[in-house]
Amino acid sequence: MHVLEIFKRDSTIFSFEFFPPKSESGWQTLLERMHSFETLEPSFVSVTYGASGSARDKTHALVQHLASNTKLDPMPHLTCIGHNKEEINNILHDYAEAGVDNILTLRGDVPVEGKVTSDFSYAADLVTHIKAFEEKKFGICVAGFPEGHPETPNRLVQLDHLKSKVDAGADWICSQLFFDNAAFLDWCERCELQHVRIPIIAGIMPITSISSMKRMAELAGGTNFPAKLLKRLYKFQDDPKSVRQIGIQWATQQCSDLLDHNVRGIHFYTMNQSAATEEIFHSLGASTGARLRTST
Ligand SMILES: Cc1cc2nc3c(=O)[nH]c(=O)nc-3n(C[C@H](O)[C@H](O)[C@H](O)COP(=O)(O)OP(=O)(O)OC[C@H]3O[C@@H](n4cnc5c(N)ncnc54)[C@H](O)[C@@H]3O)c2cc1C
Repeated sequence: MHVLEIFKRDSTIFSFEFFPPKSESGWQTLLERMHSFETLEPSFVSVTYGASGSARDKTHALVQHLASNTKLDPMPHLTCIGHNKEEINNILHDYAEAGVDNILTLRGDVPVEGKVTSDFSYAADLVTHIKAFEEKKFGICVAGFPEGHPETPNRLVQLDHLKSKVDAGADWICSQLFFDNAAFLDWCERCELQHVRIPIIAGIMPITSISSMKRMAELAGGTNFPAKLLKRLYKFQDDPKSVRQIGIQWATQQCSDLLDHNVRGIHFYTMNQSAATEEIFHSLGASTGARLRTST
């Protein structure tokens, strides 16, 4: 379903992000978990796009599998770095044929070493390109960074860049993960002041281990880990069960507070784990996203 229709249908959006596993066993485990994700009835799910090479084909394979074999509505991520226009058109054509309606449109990270050639400099250029794609009118999501993006320390300029993606035709924004709701809500207000007036969905990742937190800090550069959260985690760092419980409790409190602030939706960075997301849903008082959407 086109994302604008999904926004009309669902008063609050709940979505899940998966990554295509590298190994055969990871793939099997994810497919076994799919039923648990399906029973949570998300508005849609998204599938990340690898930085390069064969990992990129796996996104299409997982999207195709979800579209054909589950009730989930898959939205592929697509990064333009290292792609020319013809390659992007081929990918868009394949997605149109597979019945995909929406694309999460990104630039991707510039590799530290090595030169990449690309027909697109920034995500805004890819938004413009997808908007002009004649075969299908895809719904378009872009990324937003409540606590800044490492390449653009000037926060005012960064909002200009976000605005350029909106002006190019984005339908909604999915935020980078964050652990500090005040920072997210303040950024939403700044977006509003900048006339960025498309829906913003909050990105939430429950911390389930100290090592996954450290990996995320690396990948989501700029994200702040509040001292209150770190104090709790480090106090129990030798007890993995407690660390997981603290991470899930923190994410649950974040979600509860965001819902109280009437956010337009929550996107869960699931890391392909269904249990943590299920626990959060239950703690919020609902067994499914559909129930959360209809509660007043
Ligand atoms: C929700 C979400 C999903 C993601 N999924 C993936 C994924 O699947 N695969 C993956 O590889 N990465 C993914 N990423 C990471 C993302 O690709 C990187 O953070 C990347 O560095 C920024 O992508 P962007 O689309 O925001 O780029 P852009 O909007 O192009 O911005 C990139 C940087 O360039 C600056 N900029 C923009 N326009 C201009 C301009 N005209 N002049 C000068 N500077 C400019 C911006 O301020 C920013 O600092 C995801 C991030 C998020 C938040």
